[in-house]
Parts: sequence; structure tokens; C-alpha cells
Amino acid sequence: MNVNNKYHLDQLIEISSNLSESKKTDSLDVPFVDFPSQFAEERDSIHDCVDLVFSEDQFVSEKKIEEFESLVAKQVGTSFAVGVSSGTDALYLGLKSLNVGEGDEVITPPNSHFSSTSAIVQTGATPVFVDVLDDQNIDPDAIKAAITKQTKVIMPVHLTGRVARMDEILEIARTRDIAVLEDAAQAFGARYLEQPAGSFGKIAAFSAHPLKVFNAAGDAGFLTTDDEDLAHRLRLLRNNGLHERETLLEWGIVSRLDVLQAVILTHRLKSLERKIFGRRSNAARYRRKLDPRFIFIPPCQGREFNIFQNFVIQVDHRDELRAYLRDHKIRTAIHYPIPIHLQPAASVIPRGRDSLARVERQASRILSLPVHPYLTDRQIDHVCCTINQFYRDKDRL
Ligand SMILES: *Cc1c(COP(=O)(O)O)cnc(C)c1O
Repeated sequence: MNVNNKYHLDQLIEISSNLSESKKTDSLDVPFVDFPSQFAEERDSIHDCVDLVFSEDQFVSEKKIEEFESLVAKQVGTSFAVGVSSGTDALYLGLKSLNVGEGDEVITPPNSHFSSTSAIVQTGATPVFVDVLDDQNIDPDAIKAAITKQTKVIMPVHLTGRVARMDEILEIARTRDIAVLEDAAQAFGARYLEQPAGSFGKIAAFSAHPLKVFNAAGDAGFLTTDDEDLAHRLRLLRNNGLHERETLLEWGIVSRLDVLQAVILTHRLKSLERKIFGRRSNAARYRRKLDPRFIFIPPCQGREFNIFQNFVIQVDHRDELRAYLRDHKIRTAIHYPIPIHLQPAASVIPRGRDSLARVERQASRILSLPVHPYLTDRQIDHVCCTINQFYRDKDRL
């Protein structure tokens, strides 16, 4: 068993060293994500994490979870953090802790991951979709127009790792006594006006899914809040509604954070800043090299510190470009090709009169380019040249 495992891991290392080898040579096969490189970097420490959990018999220990939670709270600048099993559960439990349920409305953008809306639907409340701005984040004016007596929560999404306009959103919410729950699933480490994502709203929900910048090795999530009662309620709700093992105070779910994931995340927190730096410099390089006549990149305002969960360009002929890049071994993705309000499941959600024109237009134009920190400058230059060439050829026709 041991031998087999080792063999398998050695193979992984070989794959990843081949990868970095190929970067040094002429092969310009550009992957969208690069888990082997991440693992190659941290192989020994991941083994230490596994060792620690198994040898100290920590599977059900609350100590490691609490350690992780206090680190996260410190990083986000909130008084409390609560670990759960996924970003989706974090959103759902966050809404539950705010007593969101049937008859309530939650305002949110429909260009997000499905989970943002599905968490609302699971509580029995009604999602109210509003449009976004050029940078794909929720439009504060559209929020204002969508508020009714039933509005219980505003749920902005910090899409692509860029914080929504939280100063304006908080002002709208404050004057009307509506709670704000940040969907910060893509934004751990991002800031706006020098303030960390997750510290603006009453509650914030984060995901540590393997594909997020701050990633676990499986499903994981957490919430942050300054409100002690809410933190306490969240701890009940993630654990069946149990208080001190034997007393069921209310009906909750089982959504505890896995101890192994907590230990891995605690370890990975140390290198997060470096990873974010890598993504930010990759994004800056794209911005310098992509031809602005053909490629729209939402500008970064001075008040934004974006972590680039995704680096998204907006272009004409998107599908054709994507196929062209695929032919050139450059992998891309679309986050997300079909907005939530146009999904079959959304037919049960009543639609307001609000226009979702920008969301719909962007859905056909957005393309996520590889931006992970293991890219080389050469690879980025290759992606930029290939894209620029595609449009210059088209322009000449
Ligand atoms: C990933 C993501 C989620 C869901 O998180 P999971 O951990 O996958 O459940 C929710 N909202 C947004 C914006 C996301 O990107």
C-alpha cells in the first residue's frame, strides 16, 4: 500500500517536473490550472499535515479547527470565523443565521456560480436578480431599484476576486436596515479601500474549493462575522443544531470543516500572499501585452486590490477565439457561459422588471485566461501574441 502510494506520488512529481521542464524549453502548452506544480512545491509539508492528523488522532478534534478559524478571522479582520464543509454551505448557513426564509427576498447578481442563487433558493426565500457593471460586479443603482418591503438581504458577489462596490452597497443597506451577506467565495485576500473582503457585511461566506486561490485539497468553506450571536448560531447550525453534545437547540445540518482540510489550509495560508502576488503580476503582464483595440479588460481602480481568482477578458468572436486558442494548446474557461436566470431550474424564480442586459451581453463575450502563479512570462507572452494575432488577422479580412 505504502509502496504503491509512493510510486503514485513519485509519478506526480515526475509529471510536474516535466511540466516545469517543458516551460524552460520550447513547448508552449499552457494549462488553465496547475495542481502538479502546487503539489511539487509543498509535497513534504502536505505529508506532514497528513501525519499530524493521523498520528495525533485529530479527526474529530476541535483544536485544529479553532486554530484555523482564529487565523482566518485575524486575516480578514473580523472577530469570528466559522469553518464549514463548502462555500455553498457557508452561503446557506449564513442566510439561515440571518433568519432568511419563505417570503423574504435576497438581491444578488445572476452571473455568479450557481451556488450563490441555490443557497437562497434552499432557504425558501426568493432570489431577486439585478444587473452588473462593466467589471462584472453588482451595480449599486440596480440594487436600489430592486429593493422592496420583502428585501431581507443584499448578497453581492466579489466576482473574479474583485470586491464589489461595498461602500455604496453598505450605505444603501444601512439606510434601509437590510443585512449584507458577502459572497466572498472567490475573494479571500482581496481588498477594497484597504479593507479585506469578508469584513464589510454582517456576514461573509468563503469557499476553499480546490479551484479557488486559497484552496483546500477537497471541499471546504468558512464564514466571517463580527457578531458574536451570529457566530454562535453558525456553530450550532453547522453541527445539527447541537449545543454541548446532547442538547438539540434547533434543526441544523452537518457541515463541519474537515480537520485535514483545516490543517492543509492553515499551512497554505503561509504562502498565500506569494501566490496572490504571482497572479497579480500575471494579470498586469496580460494588461500590458493584450491589444486594447480588440480586447476589453475592466480597469483596476486604485481602491481595488484584486486577487484574480479569474482573469477575464471581454471580446467579440469569443467562441471562435477560444477554439483557436485550444488549437494552439492554450486552455481557457468561461465563468459562466449561461447566467443563472437563463438556466432551466430558474423557471421557478419570478422575474422582476429589472434589465439584466449587461449580464447577458457579457455572457457571450467573457473568457477566462490562465492566470495561475506557475505560469512563466514566456507563456503569458505566447498567450497574448496568439490572441492579438487572431484579431489582427480578422481585422485584415
Ligand atoms: C465556488 C463558489 C461558490 C461555491 O463554493 P463551493 O465551495 O464550491 O461550494 C459560491 N459562490 C461563488 C462566487 C463561487 O465562486
